[in-house]
Amino acid sequence: NLDVEWALEWMRRASAALTEHRAELNDLDRAIGDGDHGENMARGFTAVVERIGATPPDDVTGVFKVVAQALMSKVGGAAGPLYGTAFMRAAKATEGDLDAAGVVAVCAAALEGVVARGKATTGEKTMVDAWSPATEAAQAAADAGRSPAEVLRAAADSAEAGAAATVPLEATKGRASYLGERSIGHQDPGATSTAYLLATAADAAE
Ligand code: ADP
Ligand code: MG
Ligand code: MG
Repeated sequence: NLDVEWALEWMRRASAALTEHRAELNDLDRAIGDGDHGENMARGFTAVVERIGATPPDDVTGVFKVVAQALMSKVGGAAGPLYGTAFMRAAKATEGDLDAAGVVAVCAAALEGVVARGKATTGEKTMVDAWSPATEAAQAAADAGRSPAEVLRAAADSAEAGAAATVPLEATKGRASYLGERSIGHQDPGATSTAYLLATAADAAE
């Protein structure tokens, strides 16, 4: 099962990946937004790693709470409150280490948090288009008896496919919706960062 060491390793890898892909996420956001998404995510997860390094939480719930607080306070704009709410809900859905069903519960809680905060549904070209297929894939993998690591990999792969599938969509939520039809033909930055985040969760579980 996935323990606090996994959660800490996830955050270190998430910070590294989002920093590595900062320019790419900024470019995606420059096309349909204000060009700061990579900056926001890199800054937020750098703060997460600093905080867990200074005061290491002793369980998975504690890690998720620190993530939520750091993202809420360090990331402005849309993504901070959205990811912050996702991790706060994930913390509330977690008790102890995560088995396969626990991984599904975390994905489902994160999705619920994003939806509660942003009121988007699937097909609106937002991070919901990554979290939603990820949660469905996680559920299917858990139902098939897969391990927690395999459930995370299934979620990550579906998030990546979901992010790619935002390209032909017209944005109807968030800053990109100001562009209307001109948002078509670009990949959503928030769905892309969700795919990176879940990929690092799966990597940390291997
Ligand atoms: P901002 O638009 O304030 O600059 P970011 O660039 O950090 O914030 O984040 C933009 C991302 O936030 C979008 O790519 C999209 O995935 C996500 N987003 C924006 N509004 C919503 C919403 N209402 N529901 C879900 N996700 C949203
Ligand atoms: Mg932006
Ligand atoms: Mg902004």
